[in-house]
Amino acid sequence: MNALEYVPVPAFEDNYIWVVSDGQHAVVVDPGEAAPVKAYLAKRGWRLSAILLTHHHQDHVGGVADLLNGQAVPVYGPAGEAIEHLTQRLKNGDHVTIAAPALEFSVLDVPGHTSGHIAYFQAADPHGTPHVFCGDTLFACGCGRLFEGTPKQMLASLDALAALPGATEVHCAHEYTLSNIRFALACEPDNAELQAWRDKATELRARHVPTLPTTIAHERAVNPFLRAGDPSVQTSLRDQLHEKIPDRLTAFTLMREWKNRFR
Ligand SMILES: [Zn+2]
Repeated sequence: MNALEYVPVPAFEDNYIWVVSDGQHAVVVDPGEAAPVKAYLAKRGWRLSAILLTHHHQDHVGGVADLLNGQAVPVYGPAGEAIEHLTQRLKNGDHVTIAAPALEFSVLDVPGHTSGHIAYFQAADPHGTPHVFCGDTLFACGCGRLFEGTPKQMLASLDALAALPGATEVHCAHEYTLSNIRFALACEPDNAELQAWRDKATELRARHVPTLPTTIAHERAVNPFLRAGDPSVQTSLRDQLHEKIPDRLTAFTLMREWKNRFR
């Protein structure tokens, strides 16, 4: 089987539109704008074969019509959200099979950022590596804002993602890593793996290299939103926020609110 390439095409200020290709055909995830994707596909000589959408926000779906440009290409997306041009409506447990590039995904419901948000999990690429496209649910060292869902929903969604195999490559939709790391260090100043990741990510961004994909194992070690149950994280939150933290959901809720006002 041919190797697959997973390419983050930059869009807007800090979005990545992920493109997966076998060298001829390409699947595009969350094209918020068409121009950078069209230019990239043209440069590589790749042909669009499918579009995957994770949620309805304009910076993820705004380029669909222009990218399609009348082509009969399947457009997959969440059953629970009103999105134009969808041809396949997906919910938790559904499977997506694409012929070229040869790709199989299982669908996870991951509400919280939006109420119908889904993620696409590929159990193994031709090298055996798993991948997930998680839109604005999980970020490197962070998570999406709760525009439509509750903290309880988001925590369950992050738990579902954190339960994927550790080697899973996580294809997030924004380059938020450095600012997320600053907040993560406020939550967990003594986490050595996080300190090392700050140094590495700073060096990557100085050269304008994406910090993504990350992996599930790495996120379990450094992402405070996956570590709300950790006693040291809870102690740190208690000290800094002067709040009682009786359980993991409270820790997560306070952490997400703190992040919203963190500068
Ligand atoms: Zn969004």
